[in-house]
Amino acid sequence: MTENELMLISVLKCSRSELYTEPSFLTEDQTRSLTRMKQDRLKGEPIQYVVGNTEFYGSEFNIDKRALIPRPETEILVDLVVNKARELQKKDIRVLDIGTGSGIIAISIAKNLRSCRVDAIDISEGAIALAKDNADKNCVMNNISFYEKDAFVFLKEVCFNSEKYDIIVSNPPYIKTSDLSTLPDEVKCEPVTALDGGEDGLRFYREIIRSSKDLLAPEGMLFLEIGDGQRPGIDDIFSQNEDYKEISFEKDYVGTDRIVFATKQSK
Ligand code: GLN
Repeated sequence: MTENELMLISVLKCSRSELYTEPSFLTEDQTRSLTRMKQDRLKGEPIQYVVGNTEFYGSEFNIDKRALIPRPETEILVDLVVNKARELQKKDIRVLDIGTGSGIIAISIAKNLRSCRVDAIDISEGAIALAKDNADKNCVMNNISFYEKDAFVFLKEVCFNSEKYDIIVSNPPYIKTSDLSTLPDEVKCEPVTALDGGEDGLRFYREIIRSSKDLLAPEGMLFLEIGDGQRPGIDDIFSQNEDYKEISFEKDYVGTDRIVFATKQSK
C-alpha cells in the first residue's frame, strides 16, 4: 500500500478496496485531518505514528508515540514462539512478555495459541495503556494480565512466585546508549526507553537470561530478539548461565542472526 492510501484509509475509515470501489468526497474535517497527516509525515514522523495503526502477524494494532513501531523481524520471533508452544502440546501454557510496548507479541501469541495465559510487563504507563487498548481491539483482554513495572524489579519480585512460566519472550531495547544519537531521525521519534540497551546494548539480555532460569518451568523456553552483531555477546552471556541447553539462533530476512532461543535444563 502507498502512504497516500494508508492516510486516506485512516481518514475515511474504510478498506483499501472501498477506496476505489466506493469513491467518496472528503468532508472539511477529513480534509483537515489529511492535511495534518501529510504535514506530520513531511516533518519526518514515521507513517505508522501518522496514521495511528499498523499490521503485525495478520492483526491490526493501534500505534503511537507511546511505544516502539512493530518491525517485521519480530514476526519471526512470534512465529517461532507459537510453533514451539504448539509442540509442547500442553494446556494453559503460561507466557511472560517482557517489555510489551504496544503489546504486539503478547497479543499475537494469545490470539494464536488456543489456551494460554500471558503476563505482559512494561515500565511505561503509556505503553501499557496502548497495549490494553490493543488487547481489547483484538479480543484477548481475558487472556492477558498487564503490569506496569520495571523489568528488573518484576524479575526479582516474581522469582518468589511459585507458578513458573512455560515460555518467556522479549524484544528488549538493544541499542548501545552511545549509538542513540546516530540513529535515523524516524527512529529518534520512538521512545528512548524502548531503544536504550545500556552501555554495550546487552544490559537487558544479561538480566533476562540470568533471572529467567528461576522463572521458567523445567524444559521451559526463553525467546529473545537480538540486535545486529550481538550474537557473540549473547553466546557469552549464555555460557555464564549453565541452566540452559539447546541454545539456537534464527536468522531474519536478510540473513542476520535475529532471534536466540534456549530451553531450561530439566534438573
Ligand atoms: N515488544 C514490543 C515490540 O516488539 C516493544 C519492544 C521494545 O519496546 N523494545 O515491538
